[in-house]
Amino acid sequence: MAEAQNNDDVQSAAIDGQQAAGGNLYIVPTPIGNLGDITQRALSILASVDWVAAEDTRHSQRLFQHFGLQVKSLSLHDHNEEKRVKMLTDKLLAGQSVALISDAGTPLISDPGYVLVKQCRLLSIPVSALPGPCAATTALSASGLPTDKFVFLGFLPVKQVALQSAIQNLAESPMTSVVYEAPRRVKQTIKAMVQLLKPEQTMVLAKELSKTFETYVQGSAAEVLAWLEEDANREKGEFVLMVSPAPQAAEDIPPEAVKLLKLLLPTMPPKKAAGIVAEHYAVKKNQVYAYSLSMGA
Ligand code: SAM
Repeated sequence: MAEAQNNDDVQSAAIDGQQAAGGNLYIVPTPIGNLGDITQRALSILASVDWVAAEDTRHSQRLFQHFGLQVKSLSLHDHNEEKRVKMLTDKLLAGQSVALISDAGTPLISDPGYVLVKQCRLLSIPVSALPGPCAATTALSASGLPTDKFVFLGFLPVKQVALQSAIQNLAESPMTSVVYEAPRRVKQTIKAMVQLLKPEQTMVLAKELSKTFETYVQGSAAEVLAWLEEDANREKGEFVLMVSPAPQAAEDIPPEAVKLLKLLLPTMPPKKAAGIVAEHYAVKKNQVYAYSLSMGA
């Protein structure tokens, strides 16, 4: 009870902006499309910190203007992060507070900020991350693909050989894979998936999340490619690509066990079905569970 009271106190202090008293680095996610996705706490922290370190200050100016925020901002991007870190950690050590934002979504997730956070940790400067928008978790949660385990790989390599080897890994992965892709490369990446993914693997393309033309397309890689190629406009926008886990080898699971699993799956969650089958046929529950996920359960 006392703990709940404390949590409430922490929350209301944060909403008032009082948490940004000084010396803290705040990681502040910003909307990935719909400005309504900014959180009350993000606005409060942005309004109260001494400095906002932004990936692109001109880009973020629009966000500040929209929410009527008066902030002192400076840039922190891939090309000046090393240099900026000393300046920012000096400010933090002197007791000033800093919020880190990127152009959209959660900083450090395929965005700058890692060098700064790492240095703050080394110097024992408190770092606090606010929960908020992130394209990867947003897309995954609505994908219909298994979410119990997943791997996020950021952007796949650009060079063809490295790209193919990365996709080969997705074709073997026992968990859902989530990647970001740029419009100019999305077709090429899905083409490589058509060649390399296992026939049982499905994929989901999520584009323009939280925006007017938000779209999810699911199917085999070939079906998703066909959808993309139907209309050149479909290649425009922002994309998250997700691939289902690789099918697990069924050779160690007796055919009668697979039969029972197939009977049970439509009636109960995969974990429960795997438990029953494992008990009846003395096979490993994890293996049966992985197999049921690879069947799209
Ligand atoms: N830090 C961001 C986050 O938390 O999602 C990601 C930044 S990364 C430079 C940009 C990539 O994220 C885009 O190329 C796209 O793959 C993905 N992305 C960002 N916004 C998106 C959206 N609204 N819909 C789909 N994908 C998006």
